[in-house]
Formats: sequence, C-alpha cells, structure tokens
Amino acid sequence: MLNSKFGDYLAFVRRKMLEDQIAARGVRDGLVLETMEKVERHLFVDEYLRNRAYEDCPLPIAEGQTISQPYIVALMTECLALKGGEKVLEIGTGSGYQTAVLAELAKEVFTVEYYPVLAEKAKAALKGRGYDNIKFKTGDGHEGWKEYAPYDAIMVTCAPKELPAALLEQLAGGGRLAAPVGGQEQTLALYTRTASGLEKSDITRVRFVPMIAAGTTGE
Ligand code: SAH
Repeated sequence: MLNSKFGDYLAFVRRKMLEDQIAARGVRDGLVLETMEKVERHLFVDEYLRNRAYEDCPLPIAEGQTISQPYIVALMTECLALKGGEKVLEIGTGSGYQTAVLAELAKEVFTVEYYPVLAEKAKAALKGRGYDNIKFKTGDGHEGWKEYAPYDAIMVTCAPKELPAALLEQLAGGGRLAAPVGGQEQTLALYTRTASGLEKSDITRVRFVPMIAAGTTGE
C-alpha cells in the first residue's frame, strides 16, 4: 500500500520533471520524451537521495562523480536522433541512468566506465531492470571500444579537453557523436559523419566532470 503510493508519487514527479525541466526547455523528440518519463532515475542513485531523484540537477554518485541532470540527459539523447536500430557507444557509464535511456531507444549499447565500483553498481542496477542489450567494459574510454566499432551513435558523458580521435574514428557513416568538450568552460558538441565529411555544431554550454586523462589514476 505504502509502496504503491510512493510509486504513484514518483510517477507524478517524473511527469512534472518531463514537463517543467525537459519539454519546457525545448526537447521535442517524442521518443526521448516518452523514455524520460519511463526510466526511473531514483533507481540509479543511493537510497538516501531517492526522494531528490527528479530534481533539476546532477546528484552525487560514488568516486566523486555525478549522475547528470535530467534535462541534459534528454538533450544529449535528442542530439543522437535514435530510431531503434542503432549500435551505440557510451563513454562514462556512471550511475547507468543515461545507459538505460540509450538502451530503451537503441538496439545495442556498449558502455565504458573508468571506475570498477561504478561499473559494477551500474551493471547491477541495469540487469535488475531487465536490460539485456548492454555490454559493459571497465577502463579508460579514450580509445573507445574498437572490437565492436563502428557505432551509429556515440555519447560521451565526461568532458575531455579535446575530443579523443579514436572516438571519431569509430563513428559510422551517417552517425552522430555528442560530447561535452573543454576544461572549466565546456561546450556540448555534436558531430555528424556525412558523405562529405565530419560536420560539427555547438549545442550549448555545459558542465560535466572531467574525462580522466589516459595514463592517470584518476586521483
Ligand atoms: N551518464 C552518467 C554520467 C556520469 S559522470 C550518469 O548519468 O550517471 C561521468 C562518468 O564518466 C563518471 O562515472 C566517470 O567515472 C566516467 N569517466 C571519467 N573519465 C573517464 C574515462 N577516461 N574513461 C571512462 N569513463 C570515464
């Protein structure tokens, strides 16, 4: 009884999140909106943060990292224009929330996380939700995941100072890559691989945790 009331409450706040934070700021892709209403963000944060899961902000996860703000997850997902048949690479699994959104919208998701603790937690949360179209890898994402390349879409959820070349190399023809790029000041960049080459557009200013540089321990 209590549980189902809490469930109703969460569905209500998720709907509010959708309207006030995501649709109101201009996200229009119907598939993205449906998915943001469906995926339960509270299952990707620690228990003590569950009642704050639908707030308009990032929240802390382990290892000093964050689960991204819902609007940014929606905006970046919209950038990829997924239709359902795609193979997607994600760099920075984190909580696994964005991974769940991608797994709802694409055929297969390949996700890479630097910290083993986060990768394990995300894997448990996602398997617990029944997702069976996600492959996990622990390690540095600078080299992408060559074995399964090319990808129809690539999403980077930590900010490199400059976009690693390997990621662009692993983008298929017609594919799209969204990444926050920069140091203190970051821009969400969208790359599209067209017949005539790579096209780049800057979407908006963003603030992500830095992409841990290759060869460092992340300390
Ligand atoms: N989409 C995630 C965002 C997590 S924050 C979510 O909503 O939960 C970014 C993540 O990128 C962190 O988990 C961080 O550990 C990871 N990360 C940082 N540098 C990385 C690197 N070089 N390779 C792989 N993952 C990295």
